[in-house]
Amino acid sequence: MAQEITIVGGGLAGCEAAWQAARMGVRVALYEMKPRRFSPAHVSPLLGELVCSNSLRSNSLANAVGLLKEELRRLGSFLLKAADETRVPAGDALAVDRQAFAARITAGLEADPQVEIIREEITRIPPEGTVVIASGPLTSLALAASLKELTGETDLYFYDAIAPIVDGESIDLGIVFRASRYGEGNDYLNCPLTREEYDRFIAELIAGEKVPYRDFEKGVHFEGCLPIEEMAERGKETLAHGPMKPVGLLDPRTGKMPHAVVQLRHEDRQGTSYNLVGFQTKLKWKEQERILRLIPGLGNASFLRYGSLHRNTFIHSPVLLSEGLQLKKEPRLFFAGQITGVEGYVESTAMGLLAGINASRFVKGLPPVAPPAATAMGSLVRHISTPGPKDFQPMNVNFGLFPPLPTRLKGKEKNRALAERALRELEGWITGHLQTLRPAG
Ligand SMILES: Cc1cc2nc3c(=O)[nH]c(=O)nc-3n(C[C@H](O)[C@H](O)[C@H](O)COP(=O)(O)OP(=O)(O)OC[C@H]3O[C@@H](n4cnc5c(N)ncnc54)[C@H](O)[C@@H]3O)c2cc1C
Repeated sequence: MAQEITIVGGGLAGCEAAWQAARMGVRVALYEMKPRRFSPAHVSPLLGELVCSNSLRSNSLANAVGLLKEELRRLGSFLLKAADETRVPAGDALAVDRQAFAARITAGLEADPQVEIIREEITRIPPEGTVVIASGPLTSLALAASLKELTGETDLYFYDAIAPIVDGESIDLGIVFRASRYGEGNDYLNCPLTREEYDRFIAELIAGEKVPYRDFEKGVHFEGCLPIEEMAERGKETLAHGPMKPVGLLDPRTGKMPHAVVQLRHEDRQGTSYNLVGFQTKLKWKEQERILRLIPGLGNASFLRYGSLHRNTFIHSPVLLSEGLQLKKEPRLFFAGQITGVEGYVESTAMGLLAGINASRFVKGLPPVAPPAATAMGSLVRHISTPGPKDFQPMNVNFGLFPPLPTRLKGKEKNRALAERALRELEGWITGHLQTLRPAG
């Protein structure tokens, strides 16, 4: 078999995958439709474009995305190196000069003799060869139609309404109460609001600063997933009759039905994180922290994922992909980046790194690899490739996805212990497993 792979998409995941493959001695044909065709959010002809913020978020190991970055550095990530080299001052965050970042990535790949960059749109999944699909959340419509044929109507999503997720340990259990509606079980945590608390919350929601809609996002809401602030604008009691309806829930402290309730539902099997049911929002992240902390019981909430709404093409990875990011029914096809159902620049890059390694291993006749479950990358991969009982929702990396520690710790101490364990396991994986099979770059 020829040691060559095709990569569709020269964004964050595609560029990382291309670099990893080239380091493994595999030739890469990297297809990027820009500048002939731009998605509604891309504007630069360069590869590796950051479409929105120039921040890759926290660099601290006490934060799961900071840990993921450190893992990527240790795994020889091309994009993390470019980010570190084009960094701009941003406190604890790793923010970059986006032009310099993209220019460095483009120049690095253009100069690589193993990589051929072809500026063309791929309109159908290539019928032969080993292929990495890394066409991103704004995959061109022609390719999306071809993906739909491959995956099936119900396994490709075009739109994303994400509710925030909070760390279970940061919820005040002295205020919230456990109950399902009409006494049918105890599955939810319920944050009760008095009329005064509700009124203040609604006023702040309406006044809060939001991420503006882009043209292509306007008018695409389903009534079933309107952002909470838009519901609040429709009428003061709309939320109290919608996702905040209190019917069937009695606060055990008062024996009465609260004026409104925010329900929290288990997000993970371990019960370490909870999502705010029906709380998709376009509030800016800082505003989400400020306003959602007005909800009784969430005064000290620690956010593991923020709410959002945007067009997002992603496949139903838990049924379609293996841990090696390989399509189960057609193993020559790999997926990388946001299209796998991860959310965020760093997460997309991480999936690019793994897909690049595994597609290269595939053409070399080697089995795919997956990082240990206790690493940030491993827990993210398992989140997207493990079938669960709930609807599949794209996810930022967060400590709630990690397997529990043997001892019970809290807060920063727990995060530190999770990070130490992750890096230990990653080092073991690199030296004991990966390095022998992937020559160092
Ligand atoms: C509007 C918007 C804003 C976002 N803001 C942020 C943010 O601020 N922070 C954050 O962490 N994450 C953000 N994300 C989420 C996500 O992290 C980024 O979209 C990230 O760039 C995804 O990386 P990727 O490599 O999967 O896709 P991309 O970086 O989008 O790369 C995909 C590439 O494939 C190309 N392509 C698409 N179709 C074809 C085709 N058929 N043939 C050839 N080439 C093709 C595209 O031109 C593009 O260059 C945002 C997403 C969107 C949609």
